[in-house]
Amino acid sequence: MNIITKRIRGMQDVLPQESKEWETVEKIMKEEAELYGFKSIRTPILEHTELFERSVGDTSDVVEKEMYTFNDKGNRSVTLRPEGTAGVLRAVLENGLHNNPLPLKLMYVSSCYRYEKPQSGRYREFFQFGLEIIGASDVLADIQLICTADSILKRLGINSVSLEINSIGCPCCRKKFNEALKNYFEIHSSKLCQTCKDRLYRNPMRIFDCKNPECGEICKGAPVILDYICEKCSSHFEKLKTLLKSVKINYKINPEIVRGLDYYSKTVFEFVCNIDGTNLTLCGGGRYDDLSEILGGPSLPAIGFGMGIERILMVMKKQNAFFEKPSSPEIYIAPLGEKAVPKALELCEILRRSSIFAETDIMNRNLKSQMKYADKINSRYTLVLGDEEIQSGKAKIKEMKNSKEYEIFLNENFINNFLDIQFKNYNI
Ligand code: ATP
Ligand code: MG
Repeated sequence: MNIITKRIRGMQDVLPQESKEWETVEKIMKEEAELYGFKSIRTPILEHTELFERSVGDTSDVVEKEMYTFNDKGNRSVTLRPEGTAGVLRAVLENGLHNNPLPLKLMYVSSCYRYEKPQSGRYREFFQFGLEIIGASDVLADIQLICTADSILKRLGINSVSLEINSIGCPCCRKKFNEALKNYFEIHSSKLCQTCKDRLYRNPMRIFDCKNPECGEICKGAPVILDYICEKCSSHFEKLKTLLKSVKINYKINPEIVRGLDYYSKTVFEFVCNIDGTNLTLCGGGRYDDLSEILGGPSLPAIGFGMGIERILMVMKKQNAFFEKPSSPEIYIAPLGEKAVPKALELCEILRRSSIFAETDIMNRNLKSQMKYADKINSRYTLVLGDEEIQSGKAKIKEMKNSKEYEIFLNENFINNFLDIQFKNYNI
């Protein structure tokens, strides 16, 4: 096929039927997050490359291999956002939002770009619903964020999701842990892939992210971070577990969760769903207490998550979730003859001003083809408007599913007549 009519690998078109499903999911996510006090934020798709190098981390898979980075016409290196948090925090700092009463609770739906190997549930353009609580260091913020994610997944009706939590400590506890990891991985270094060999000295924790099965095997015997975290981080984690119990959210501790982005500290978590025997991470997040300072801002402890919308939809479809179809017209007005055309336009406008989905002909079709079309687009009622109707000021509305007809006046009573007909039929 000609390259002009072929989409870029790993990217998807969301067609009208599916768009409706996306909108439903996004609406539920936003409504639920609003109940917890989150407000929307929109940030640009492009950021300076340095923002991601510094925040996501230059030893992460995302920065090392997956970013869409290019020079713009001013020869500045820019990057299509691979995730949402860094841009949101940059916007908070740049616009001084942190000078407002804290915490800031922000939500967004962002397209993200990662040059990964496309496969089921993994795309090069994907969409994340993200939440961030900024300016709150207490574990109560962790709980509120996890509760919000849990309520969203429940409201979407997703089954068999489990929450996995871990603590990856603070930079202070990670120093000791990284030493232990280096010692361990050095012994096994001959079996590590080249990327992990490089990471061994730069950031050994990243080896846990490697998707290579041999590296995964070696990771199984590696030291566990929970044995290395300091008293403060450990007490944070203990409180998290107690509070999760009190809000009745089941969890499992998974010491292998380190998350793919460098800026996390203390609490990290994932909501995982088992689909056809494989685990799919639907939502991943964690604390990023030091990110603001890393970006040159003040101390601004925070926690957030990203939920993959494609993966959520994939699971909902597998679990036979019900989705409404895109709406079809309430009424199709078929003009017959020259005089009827402007009248049909006028009546359609009147209907739309009352929030009624109305269609009319814009193809100069004859009556037969118009009726065929009205049927195909599933219009509930049709109204044929000819010279006779215009002269008498009356017409007939036909309900397509049962061919029942109702009289309607084409004067100022038109809209009330139509609403009456609709109302009567809803009550049957
Ligand atoms: P994974 O381990 O699956 O690669 P990740 O750690 O890279 O995930 P995050 O950066 O935390 O993922 O992104 C948060 C969420 O965004 C994930 O839980 C997932 O639902 C979704 N996600 C991440 N990468 C992709 C992708 N390439 N395609 C579709 N969804 C994705
Ligand atoms: Mg990844």
